[in-house]
This record gives sequence, structure tokens and C-alpha cells, in this order.
Amino acid sequence: MEQRIVGFHQDEHGDWVADLACGHARHVRHDPPWSERPWVVTKEGRERHLRQHLHCGQCAGGHPA
Ligand SMILES: [Zn+2]
Repeated sequence: MEQRIVGFHQDEHGDWVADLACGHARHVRHDPPWSERPWVVTKEGRERHLRQHLHCGQCAGGHPA
């Protein structure tokens, strides 16, 4: 299920987390070579990805926020 990104925050380890419109949150780590998201570590990159969509596994699994 695709959900709109409404914001970003960092968890206690400094990893970036996308806040989704449904109320869930998804990690968007830049952890090469497994997760290549160099955009997430810059403010400009994150702003560019606001309002884009991410798959929400929790919604897809039927878990309400
Ligand atoms: Zn969700």
C-alpha cells in the first residue's frame, strides 16, 4: 500500500525515518550497499522526497496506525 511521506525524523541511532500520511513510519536508511539513499542525509534531498510515496508494509498487513 503506497502512502505519502509527510515528514522525516531521526531515531535514537541517528537513522532517518519517514513519517507516512497513514500515521506509520518507515526507516529510510542510507546504508550502502544494501540501502542506497544518499538523498536522505541532506535537508535538500529529504525536502525533494516529501509528498512522494512509499510502500507501507504495516498498512498492507492490515495494521492500523
Ligand atoms: Zn501505514
